[in-house]
Amino acid sequence: MENEFKKKSTHDINSIIARVINGENVDCPKCGSVLIFNDVNSGKHPGIFCPNNDFRIMMDFKRNDIGK
Ligand SMILES: [Zn+2]
Repeated sequence: MENEFKKKSTHDINSIIARVINGENVDCPKCGSVLIFNDVNSGKHPGIFCPNNDFRIMMDFKRNDIGK
C-alpha cells in the first residue's frame, strides 16, 4: 500500500536533516522559526528542534558516527 502523504513527509524530514547538518538555517515546517540543531557534542540528545517545541527530530547518532 502506497501512502503518498507519508512518503512525502519522510522525504521532507530527510531533506531537513541533510540541510541542517550542512549548516543551513532551515525553517520549521510548522511555524517557520529557524530550527536548532544539537549535535553529538552539544551534551544534549542529538536532534533537530523547533524553539517553539512544535517540531522535533530525534537522532540516534553514536558519537563514533561523526568526526571520523
Ligand atoms: Zn515550529
